[in-house]
Amino acid sequence: MSATFINLAYLLASVLFIFGLKGLTHPRTAVRGNLMGALGMLIAVLVTLFNKQIISFELIIAGIVVGGAIGMVLAIRIQMTAMPQLVALFNGFGGGASALVAGAALAESGAIGAASMTQMLIATAASGIIGAVTFWGSLVAFGKLQEVITSGAVLFPGQKAINILLAATAIFFGVMVILNPDVMLWYWLTVAAASLLGILLVIPIGGADMPVVISLLNSYSGLAAAATGFVLGNNVLIISGSLVGASGLILTNIMCKAMNRSLTNVLFGVLGPSEDSAVDDIYEGRIKSTSADEIAMLFDTARRVTIVPGYGMAVSQAQHAVRDLTNLLESRGITVEFGIHPVAGRMPGHMNVLLAEANIPYEKLKEMDEVNSNIEQTDVALVIGANDVVNPVAKTDPKSPIAGMPIIDVDKARTTVVIKRSLSPGFAGIPNPLFAADNTLMFFSDGKKAFTDLVAAVKES
Ligand code: NDP
Repeated sequence: MSATFINLAYLLASVLFIFGLKGLTHPRTAVRGNLMGALGMLIAVLVTLFNKQIISFELIIAGIVVGGAIGMVLAIRIQMTAMPQLVALFNGFGGGASALVAGAALAESGAIGAASMTQMLIATAASGIIGAVTFWGSLVAFGKLQEVITSGAVLFPGQKAINILLAATAIFFGVMVILNPDVMLWYWLTVAAASLLGILLVIPIGGADMPVVISLLNSYSGLAAAATGFVLGNNVLIISGSLVGASGLILTNIMCKAMNRSLTNVLFGVLGPSEDSAVDDIYEGRIKSTSADEIAMLFDTARRVTIVPGYGMAVSQAQHAVRDLTNLLESRGITVEFGIHPVAGRMPGHMNVLLAEANIPYEKLKEMDEVNSNIEQTDVALVIGANDVVNPVAKTDPKSPIAGMPIIDVDKARTTVVIKRSLSPGFAGIPNPLFAADNTLMFFSDGKKAFTDLVAAVKES
């Protein structure tokens, strides 16, 4: 295969990636964007396989079969609600693969005595460091999201100093890789120090800051791939890695804004657990529970309803029932809109994806600022499975793990109905005074059952 043909194919793949990303900026074009990106990747993979005789085709096919089978089983068996964990894991695998490929390239070039190109060696060290941080950091993020380890911040004295020391050690070992490319031990020491750093960087981040970390790790996996692209001299890997790195950074920035925190503050300004206000003090004697029939009566006089979905909607898979109620209310002349918080659910865009799956028109999904600007004209705010993103503590307790995070101000609606199964807290693990507010009614139920019951009650009323 001629070099010109290969580079033209890589160029085509890169153009497809860029148009694919452009497509992903709007729900209407997202599916097409995704397909374009996948096509670009197919071209890049095929051309690379035919270009480089790195390994025999038998081994490549065996690798694809084994890896593909594991990926397929994972993807089929995973619950929809566990998708964010799976995405975190895939990010991590990307980082791990980059570190391993760079290591293999170093071992190979060392063996033939050609490991002298400084650029390749710098890229190898960078790939080892970023890849290992991404792999282990993502594993910790997976554990936190899956709640196999605590989702809160894990803090210990001297944490920042140890992290700085580890970062310096990883860089030192990286420099040794550049100076002694024939000694593979330096590379594995670099990876070991960076692995520890990856774990320690993510364990102190907890609760509501997780979205920022996940986007950042996503960006790191791209940077690691780009560095590996330099190691292998592969243009399409450099371009695609840079695109992932840059788009991950943009997403990180959006998530930081959503949390009203700077990146430095998220990474290094860990908030300790807030003083536990006894749950009983907050809720004691102040919770008013309601039923589907009572809520149907509220709709009788309502003109405007705002639905605020959260993680519980994903857990109960209530999106189709939510659409049925929306259609029913609109057929009775009520304006229905959705308030979407940027970190609602467990992954960026989680609520948008679920509501789009139920064919709820995109125009009805309003961003937080827009909803807040006319929330006072809302007669009924229906909160389904959202908790942290509507918790007024974010505005009142500077020590809370969600301090400063803008929330959807459902407490300012005329009546707020919160649909969830109990008074248990959300991801950040803190009580929510909204549940005890004067204008709040609690409808204790599974989200999907609640909306199905509401549809029946409204039809009967
Ligand atoms: P929360 O995690 O704050 O609350 C979810 C609520 O859903 C729970 O209180 C739970 O209460 C309820 N719930 C669970 N299952 C059901 C069910 N079957 N039916 C009805 N309700 C149910 O969710 P939010 O969306 O408000 O906030 C997201 C949180 O996750 C934020 O803290 C955010 O920072 C964090 N996060 C977000 C990520 C992202 O990218 N979006 C990534 C990682 C973390 P109960 O058990 O009583 O039913």
